[in-house]
Amino acid sequence: MAQEYDLVILGGGTGGYVAAIRASQLGLKTAIVEKGKLGGTCLHKGCIPSKALLRSAEVFATAKHSEDFGVVTSDVSINFSKVQERKNKIVDQLHKGVQHLMKQGKIDVFEGTGRILGPSIFSPMPGTISVEMNNGDENEMLIPKNVIVATGSRPRTLPGLDIDGQLVMTSDEALALEEVPSSIIIVGGGVIGIEWASMLSDFGADVTVIEYADRIVPTEDKEISKEMQRLMKKKGVKIVTGAKVLPETLQKGEGVTISAEVKGSQQEFSAEKLLVSVGRQANTEGIGIENTDIQIEKGFILANEYFQTKESHIYAIGDVIGGLQLAHVASHEGIVAVEHIAGKNPSPIDYSLVSKCIYSSPEAASVGLTEDEAKEKGHNVKTGKFSFRAIGKALVFGESDGFVKIVADKDTDDILGVHMIGPHVTDMISEAGLARVLDATPWEVAHTIHPHPTLSEAIGEAALAVDGKAIHG
Ligand code: FAD
Repeated sequence: MAQEYDLVILGGGTGGYVAAIRASQLGLKTAIVEKGKLGGTCLHKGCIPSKALLRSAEVFATAKHSEDFGVVTSDVSINFSKVQERKNKIVDQLHKGVQHLMKQGKIDVFEGTGRILGPSIFSPMPGTISVEMNNGDENEMLIPKNVIVATGSRPRTLPGLDIDGQLVMTSDEALALEEVPSSIIIVGGGVIGIEWASMLSDFGADVTVIEYADRIVPTEDKEISKEMQRLMKKKGVKIVTGAKVLPETLQKGEGVTISAEVKGSQQEFSAEKLLVSVGRQANTEGIGIENTDIQIEKGFILANEYFQTKESHIYAIGDVIGGLQLAHVASHEGIVAVEHIAGKNPSPIDYSLVSKCIYSSPEAASVGLTEDEAKEKGHNVKTGKFSFRAIGKALVFGESDGFVKIVADKDTDDILGVHMIGPHVTDMISEAGLARVLDATPWEVAHTIHPHPTLSEAIGEAALAVDGKAIHG
């Protein structure tokens, strides 16, 4: 039997389930259709499991030099099945939490694959959702006034570099590794590639990163890339930049061998496994786009600032529309879409205010323009930089690599961007985010008295350094 809803959301990832909660808060009768597990990529294949593994790797790396802290340990080793067990437990706990939130919000969850139908006996407009139920029950028919497509993304690979899940993997398969490989080639030195490089290296693997651009994490400020490269090399990661991997040279046997064109010559790389981390592809297939006027550009669904597609009652949010493919972006887009549906007149998202994080060890985080971007946009730029080496808390932690860099406008004194690399900077970037939202000046940040001793003192000092007034630098 067909059921009517104010809103049906296709996909229960971070974008979809957060949108559902906001819709329920606003009194919309809401259903969510999820073919896998509520929580989506972030909870099951992304943010959370990868950070759980990173944390274990970090504890192992710290334990190996615990004597630096005067703590004597012997025979530090890894029980990798326990590492995986811990990761799975965290994911399960959070998954139950999301299921509970759906019940609490009286959101109907349909476990199955949803597909948008064209105009039908149910509705003259495209948007009726047919759900092929996972349990084999007859298809459910949902008739919504509005639809949000939040079907997310999946790993991309290079043509010819087929994923077998054993020797050649994406992050999806790597998350389920049963043991740490002795060596691994990571194709792609972006955020995900570098997080894996850091983690596997800390676990003891011999890691080689092959990156096409002339620097790793190439969307970050150049100085962050340079410092990240230095710190990855310091922990033993080999990094080859300006390298075009040649998929046709892949050979598999006991391990893998592959060649890359590096600055005009061909180099061969061998390892036990190969991880492909070259970006993500939107899940737009099989969801009935062809039954609608929805437009797709470069593989992503096109949507306006309120996330309406060409069909104004069908919205699209999260990874499936491209842009910043981040969990907090997907959920915020979901909230804006739902508030627009409910007539709440939400403000469009200013993506230049979104913080981006890399959870390697050490971490990196940024918000706003890089120095080069600011110059390209015609700003008269001034910068302030402060090293964690002069921050007491960083020395106490035994983690004094890295710095905070602030990019500001000489004429208006506005902070244009903040870039950090070092201990716990992913937890510190929100101060910079708030400074950007409030259009703060370096002076205002510096005069937000930072408690001592904390890592956040580096932000205050970098703000002073913008006008050459750092106290400890
Ligand atoms: P998804 O989370 O992909 O959810 C889409 C959901 O839709 C899935 O559950 C899927 O099963 C379902 N679906 C698809 N098609 C259908 C259909 N036809 N019917 C029903 N259901 C369907 N982001 C961060 O912000 N921080 C991080 O630390 C971070 N780490 C990451 C690490 C890794 C290894 C990866 C791969 C990603 C990471 N991300 C991180 C990115 C983040 O996971 C995504 O940006 C986020 O999950 C996007 O949310 P979404 O709701 O758009 O899509």
